[in-house]
Amino acid sequence: MAKILIMGGAGYIGSHTLKHLKEHGYDVLVADNLSTGHKEAVMDSLLITADLLDENALNELFSTYQIEAVVHFAAFSLVGESVSDPAKYYRNNVVGTFNLLEAMRRFGVNKIVFSSTCATYGQPHYVPMDEKHPQTPINPYGQTKLAIENMFRDYHQAYGLKYIALRYFNAAGADESALIGESHHPETHLIPLVLQAVKGERENVKIFGSDYETPDGTCLRDYIHVSDLAAAHRLALEKLDKYQGYINLGTGIPTSVLEIIKAAEKVCGKTCPIVKTERRSGDPAKLYADNTVAKNILGWQPKYTDIEAIIRTAWNWELNRRF
Ligand code: UDP
Repeated sequence: MAKILIMGGAGYIGSHTLKHLKEHGYDVLVADNLSTGHKEAVMDSLLITADLLDENALNELFSTYQIEAVVHFAAFSLVGESVSDPAKYYRNNVVGTFNLLEAMRRFGVNKIVFSSTCATYGQPHYVPMDEKHPQTPINPYGQTKLAIENMFRDYHQAYGLKYIALRYFNAAGADESALIGESHHPETHLIPLVLQAVKGERENVKIFGSDYETPDGTCLRDYIHVSDLAAAHRLALEKLDKYQGYINLGTGIPTSVLEIIKAAEKVCGKTCPIVKTERRSGDPAKLYADNTVAKNILGWQPKYTDIEAIIRTAWNWELNRRF
């Protein structure tokens, strides 16, 4: 039986997609260079340690296994680091994806679902943001993801590549089992930082700016549960023969930084120490999705629309985490 190759399947969103695909009867194979991923996150699935910059390893992978489609998560994703070391991002994200597409072409694999981002839009001209919003990324991370999206369009036209690029908003939460979840080193994302501060593992959480033009002065983001993201990847795989293009994945619900902190305090039953600081550079006031295309094209519907329910899964993971 042909397999689905999950490139970067040991990472946060990749491992949740892996679990979801297996639960839906897919035969899967994970490849990951384990630079930021965790082998524990793959659980009992087949894991090949391979790097996208290693052409021989890709040849070995595609010649050993019969691969029907690729779901591609393998990328670096820290905005600040992409500004200080863009070469790392262009090499790993853009050159790595180019190598992957070329390996797919050599071995006659023409289906890919890709992990893209709302960072390809840059500063919002309007919210909610739909897929027609202009794409002018404001950091190298977003530029690398946009370059890859453009590669797909060109490979589609020239070589018949079937692709769907999913533009995530803010991935959050953890699998209901609490066996897998978010584990970044260093951690930069708001929800895990808040939960770790509640647990006493961090002194406090810094609120980056309280003077934005939003109802409570803090930034609005669209937090989407990682299991809802995982389900969208399966639906995208199933739609590849009929649709190629770019699809936003968000709940469409804006939540402020202070609302996240309040919700976390309620879920955990403890207070979160906070410090109000300056704005973080490059942070837009409001960023949330128009998810009409995901609903209409993929038949996707987020199951988690309540921020407390999302945070509860992240909290269970924080209490149980093994990696
Ligand atoms: N944020 C914050 N303090 C932190 C980390 C994040 O106030 O320590 C804010 C950040 O300014 C943004 C929101 O929380 O408005 C979500 O940030 P995160 O880094 O989680 O995701 P991003 O939106 O940057 O992808």
